Amino acid sequence: MDLDVALPFETDVVLPDGPVATRSRSDGPRDPEGRAEPAVEVRRSARRRRTVSAYREGDRVIVLVPARFSRAEERRWVQTMLERLAASEAKRRPSDADLAQRADELSTRFLGGRATPASIRWVANQRGRWGSCTPSDRSIRISSRVQGMPGYVLDYVILHELSHLLVAGHGPDFWALLAAYPRLERARGYLDGVAAASGLALSDE
Ligand SMILES: [Zn+2]
Repeated sequence: MDLDVALPFETDVVLPDGPVATRSRSDGPRDPEGRAEPAVEVRRSARRRRTVSAYREGDRVIVLVPARFSRAEERRWVQTMLERLAASEAKRRPSDADLAQRADELSTRFLGGRATPASIRWVANQRGRWGSCTPSDRSIRISSRVQGMPGYVLDYVILHELSHLLVAGHGPDFWALLAAYPRLERARGYLDGVAAASGLALSDE
């Protein structure tokens, strides 16, 4: 299963009552990371009355607007929808590439850069585990259950598995590696809470 697929999604906006205020813009749309703005195709629909929708189709963004829109309304709503689309894409769940980057940063920050996994990826079939590590081939797998959890929990799970590249088992020398992680106990408590709530026998040990 490829978890790094950009799923098509739609952002619907219900229009406010009354006339839509228009604002003049002197600056064009900008992307904070300097990427090119996507090509936008506006489709007007006579049937569409009170909603605006946007979704990605290939490398374009399709914006569906009511046919009654003025050009100014259209411009304003296209910009609004591009912003919403960008915001929901930013919230998308992290990919395997995100995991690798995170692991690199965590290893550098907390393990002196000594833990260097050959691969780290999401897996769906981690029964009873949040993550696992095979020191012989330096591979790390993280349960997809962790994918929607807060960043500090994901970081802990990654750091835990990175530490197993250096120390097997869960003795004092293992936990000493993790001691510098500031939200260690909070992250472990979060995972214990999820395990208890779901009735799963999941442990980070
Ligand atoms: Zn462990």
